[in-house]
Amino acid sequence: MVGSMLTVDEALELVLIRARPLPPRRLALGEAAGCLLAEDVAADLDLPPFRKALMDGYAVRAADVTGASCRLRLGETISAGRMPGRPLAIGEAALIMTGAPLPEGADAVVMREQARPLPGGFVALEPARPVAPGLNWMPQGREMRSGEVVLRRGERLNPARIGLLAAVGRPEVTVTPRPRVIVVPTGDELVEPDRVPGPGQIRNSNAAMLRALARDCGAEAEAAPIAPDEPDALRAALETGLDRADVLLVAGGVSAGDRDLVPAALESLGVACLFHKVSMKPGKPLWFGAGPDRGAGGPGPLVFGLPGNPVSGIVAFLLFVRPALRRLQGSNHQQSFPRPVSLSRPFTHRGPRPTYHPARLIARTGEGSPWVETMDWAGSADLRTVAGADGFAIFPAGDYSYDEGHVIGFLSLP
Ligand code: AMP
Ligand code: MG
Repeated sequence: MVGSMLTVDEALELVLIRARPLPPRRLALGEAAGCLLAEDVAADLDLPPFRKALMDGYAVRAADVTGASCRLRLGETISAGRMPGRPLAIGEAALIMTGAPLPEGADAVVMREQARPLPGGFVALEPARPVAPGLNWMPQGREMRSGEVVLRRGERLNPARIGLLAAVGRPEVTVTPRPRVIVVPTGDELVEPDRVPGPGQIRNSNAAMLRALARDCGAEAEAAPIAPDEPDALRAALETGLDRADVLLVAGGVSAGDRDLVPAALESLGVACLFHKVSMKPGKPLWFGAGPDRGAGGPGPLVFGLPGNPVSGIVAFLLFVRPALRRLQGSNHQQSFPRPVSLSRPFTHRGPRPTYHPARLIARTGEGSPWVETMDWAGSADLRTVAGADGFAIFPAGDYSYDEGHVIGFLSLP
């Protein structure tokens, strides 16, 4: 355990050292959406696999279609999913559907809208423009060639890439999986949101909120039942979470009160404390540790003991848990330096810790950074104010008065 209080940057470094990409896993396409690819993927065929009509119309030899109108003999009908029965004869047109293979000899497709069937097995073509070879069909392999790498390791599987994997015959794919996050809310005063709190009780808002935050970062997240402030029951609840989680988020019970039993319970379960307390406001009591290695099952879970006040939890999540979840998913892209914003009104900051103060972006003309308005905020339990915020204005440690227009950092909420 580290002695003096860490800065946010020092603490984040300790978190990121521990946050290694999860071992790659083979997943069905339906489950892989949103994950980072952990292999290069090559096409197993040419696409299109044949010379493909792009319109419903008539396959022709361009040289046969001269002038604004001409008359050709009507040959076979070629629909999608069937190969042509024979090459196209000179002076002949074949009725062809979108997606069907062009017959040998054909080198253009005239749109159906620019043609008129004639009695006696003929068709009149009235193309709007002169018909040149290559009109309205796609050469074989135009999209990709067999063996060509079409997706690379590290690319995020967005919907178009999922479709591409299906097109190249990959119903399963190797990805860095989504981390499994388990949230364990703690506190004797808590009741679930579907209950009316009794005397001295409040509702458990953290579990739902932290789960939503984790999901927003691409994790699979679930919330455990409320754990009481009682050593044995708390230990049992934490043990269940540790068994299954890549990241365990414990809410509450990490400050200095008599019933703040989480650090001792975690350490008794073999979770090594890497730091406790960070110089920040809100969120100072943050606890971070790593569970025992699982041998072949991979590294031990990362464990965050988040302060129970919801706004402390949200700030600690954004500063530490979000970067860790990104790293576990194989993303090297960390949020760069907090985005610069201009204060729309003066602000006075006091105190030895940097403060993350709820703020909203406002429309205001003028060059430079976007403008933010600091909000009237009742402190770390006041989630209602944060629900109307776009993020947090960051005021460095120390006693300072800031003028309107001063540029500071901003931590965005999802
Ligand atoms: P703790 O960190 O356990 O000392 O809790 C600090 C404050 O946060 C107390 O006022 C708790 O009642 C409150 N709190 C703790 N857990 C939750 C929760 N899951 N939802 C809402 N408030 C909580
Ligand atoms: Mg508590």
